Amino acid sequence: MTIAVYPGTFDPLTCGHMDIIERTSPLVDRLVVGIYENPGKRPLFSLEERVKLVEEAIGGLANVRVEAFKGLTVDFIRRAGGRVMIRGLRANSDFEREFEMALMNRKLAPEIELLCLMTSSQYQFLSSSLIKEVAKLGGCLDGMVPDHVAIALKQRFSAAIGLAAGKDEQ
Ligand code: ADP
Repeated sequence: MTIAVYPGTFDPLTCGHMDIIERTSPLVDRLVVGIYENPGKRPLFSLEERVKLVEEAIGGLANVRVEAFKGLTVDFIRRAGGRVMIRGLRANSDFEREFEMALMNRKLAPEIELLCLMTSSQYQFLSSSLIKEVAKLGGCLDGMVPDHVAIALKQRFSAAIGLAAGKDEQ
């Protein structure tokens, strides 16, 4: 049984992430999407919120499940019984970072193999950080994030705008 783990921050899930999940799911027996706490990145959504957003998106994929994790990614993959780590590649910059991480991970856990999927061309410009910037400025996110993620972003930023407006009035 091949268990693969797709780890990431997913703050929030984008259509680029979903594309990687949907393309990996038929290749393996089970795919675990691992949501990394990643306090260093100061995520916009809490760990629980990020898990829920991914859970809602993968409803139709029977062999995919979601789990949150803290600590070393390779330790999480081992706990999940994974043999393969999945990552997505967009540009050269992704490659350099992934290459560096892959070599470190191989040192830490030589039994785990890395499988990188190239982004689909329509998603190559997509990143969670860019999505957050566009959402903050009220831009249209159609086709870039699942609908429920767009709603969550809108709610998060309208709450922030409301708070800021309230402060100005004081
Ligand atoms: P991390 O903090 O681990 O980079 P991300 O949520 O930003 O977490 O990304 C998780 C994985 O998904 C990474 O391998 C990243 O390269 C990949 N990824 C992100 N956006 C895209 C995209 N548009 N197309 C393909 N892969 C992507």
